[in-house]
Amino acid sequence: MHNDENMGFGSKAVHAGAIDCLGSAVTPIFQTSTFRFRDVDHGARCFSGEENGYIYTRIGNPSITELEEAVASLEGGCGSVAVSSGMAAVNTVYMTFLSQGKHLVAHNSLYGPSRGVMESIYPKYGVESSFVDATDTENVRNAIKDNTALIYLETPANPTMGIMDIEAICKIAHERNIPVCVDNTFCSPYLQQPLALGADVVLHSMTKFINGHADIVGGIVVAKEKDIYTRLRAIMVNMGFNMDPHQAWLTRRGLKTLPIRIDRAQENAIKVAEFLENHPKVEWVLYPGLKSHPQYELAKRQMKGPGAMITFCLKGGLEAGKKLMNNVHLAMLAVSLGGIETLIQHPASMTHSKLSKEARESAGITDGLIRFAVGIENVEDIIADLREALEKA
Ligand SMILES: *Cc1c(COP(=O)(O)O)cnc(C)c1O
Repeated sequence: MHNDENMGFGSKAVHAGAIDCLGSAVTPIFQTSTFRFRDVDHGARCFSGEENGYIYTRIGNPSITELEEAVASLEGGCGSVAVSSGMAAVNTVYMTFLSQGKHLVAHNSLYGPSRGVMESIYPKYGVESSFVDATDTENVRNAIKDNTALIYLETPANPTMGIMDIEAICKIAHERNIPVCVDNTFCSPYLQQPLALGADVVLHSMTKFINGHADIVGGIVVAKEKDIYTRLRAIMVNMGFNMDPHQAWLTRRGLKTLPIRIDRAQENAIKVAEFLENHPKVEWVLYPGLKSHPQYELAKRQMKGPGAMITFCLKGGLEAGKKLMNNVHLAMLAVSLGGIETLIQHPASMTHSKLSKEARESAGITDGLIRFAVGIENVEDIIADLREALEKA
């Protein structure tokens, strides 16, 4: 199969990792839980690692390998580990780097459960954490302690759209040998490649842009170096965080169109953000493509484009926001993002409702904040839908 490291991003998105099976144009779904050994010695060699054969689908499966190779190639990593959900990816990273007595420094506004598990589950295992506004690099430097074992960023952050300087933070972390993980879900490798900026690990909820069709849940962790890759894989295999082959196959299919889906959604988002910013009922809009975004210059330097996620707040606050969300028709009132369809949701009562009100407020997740995930529909329709709903808000 055509699988050349020098191919462009769009070509890799289509071809990377493909496995020719009886001449198939597309890698088939290897819908099997186990693999037959030729003889006892072959089985022993597969288990010892002397031979790279497949053993059992929790450990590995060709449909999953294809996806892992494709995403690793797009992120510029040495390898990746596909898992059953974005949260399985987050926990694979936490469990790889954190153990009793260790400390995590993370941005204060993350995907809700990425912060939630640190506050509700990991303290039971003796892991401490500090959540700081990492859009100011100095806050990260000041939060590092002797036992800090991981710095965890999500940029742009969910849902505040805060942008962190990956390169500057990695420099500080690496002076103290602390690994840095970036949740790259909002960008996908098409718009941002954290490993090239110094990060050690990148993760994705593939439920979002990578699959892009709102029909699977999945996650992946990409490592820059072999030794971290090996540790990540051991957690995945032993915790049973693996993907299923059919889920991997659908995700690999979705990934093929990633660049053209993002180009279109982003083109739409730029117009929607401008429309919102100029609307008299809108108090503020946060979108990395608007000059009004506090880290506009950093976004331009670090990201290939501003993406398709917008956060905004109406002058009428929460009540007006509720009316808007109850009156849109094309935009679906639903959580998730990165799909072909436009979605709208209310973080304070939905995705971030499990965080304490203080945690939300200190992270800038105010009650009136609305998150808008722009899809690939005709932009005129998306704007007309918002315009009509805003009249009722
Ligand atoms: C959705 C999401 C996750 C979690 O992914 P799931 O696939 O829902 O488990 C993690 N990080 C970000 C930024 C997300 O948007």
